[in-house]
Amino acid sequence: MTYIGRFAPSPSGPLHFGSLIAAFGSYFQAKSQQGQWLVRIEDLDPPREMPGASSLILNTLESYGLHWDGSVIYQSQRHQRYQEQIDSWLASGLAYYCQCTRKQIKQGGGFYLGTCRHKSQLTPEGCSVRLHVKQAIEQFTDQKHGVITIPHQLAQEDFIIKRRDGLFAYNLAVVLDDIDQGVTEVVRGADLIEPTGRQINLYRYLNQPEVSYIHLPLALDEHGNKLSKQNHAPAVDTHCAKETLIKVMLFLGFTLPDDFQSASIEQMIEWGCQHWSLQQLPNSLASSTL
Ligand code: GLU
Repeated sequence: MTYIGRFAPSPSGPLHFGSLIAAFGSYFQAKSQQGQWLVRIEDLDPPREMPGASSLILNTLESYGLHWDGSVIYQSQRHQRYQEQIDSWLASGLAYYCQCTRKQIKQGGGFYLGTCRHKSQLTPEGCSVRLHVKQAIEQFTDQKHGVITIPHQLAQEDFIIKRRDGLFAYNLAVVLDDIDQGVTEVVRGADLIEPTGRQINLYRYLNQPEVSYIHLPLALDEHGNKLSKQNHAPAVDTHCAKETLIKVMLFLGFTLPDDFQSASIEQMIEWGCQHWSLQQLPNSLASSTL
């Protein structure tokens, strides 16, 4: 089976150091196995997006020497596919409308307890759509970190596949896209460990073979906070790509040769593909970038 990996940024802002780690980690893992590396723009949530961020992200990847296979997929073009799947689950009773607000769920202890599961009179207006979780996924195997346990209450919660505001939920879109694109392994940041159980649930409901997972350590800033768009992580500079790439490679656990600085960016990436191994990755799920 050919390896197919991917990098799936959300265009809520330009690429920052943390997203570059996910880009290069997934790239090295794919290319060290002569696999394909796809790029998908996860533009599911317009209010959180920054105009122009998609092309900024793609240009930044190219200036860092990262070239994707095939054409870029945009989630905003795939609403019909998502809705058809939701309709089919609604029809078969695996999904249902839910009118509970976030506030109500919080007041009830923070986890959704299936309140609307049998309220057959509910309609799409003002409702989210939830998947009826019959078998909770409480653990999964990560190729780097081994067995990872998901908190019980989270694992068994009927989760949202379409939001009350009409937007499609990340878990649904990511799984349908990975299946349709033939992705065999997901390499991404450790901040996405928790939703993995829900995503595995979706593979089972869809009768599809599960992918394998690798979660990369999260990059932390000097205060110990995750580098993220919400925390205003700075955009990576495209003028000093080599210096930044060296930092990314050190973060990913490479021991670089002394004369590495004199190599071109293409040579650095080629060297990285040849020397990449999962053992070199730090064992922790978060690391400082300093
Ligand atoms: N779009 C997600 C993000 O930017 C990543 C999704 C994934 O890799 O599964 O955080």
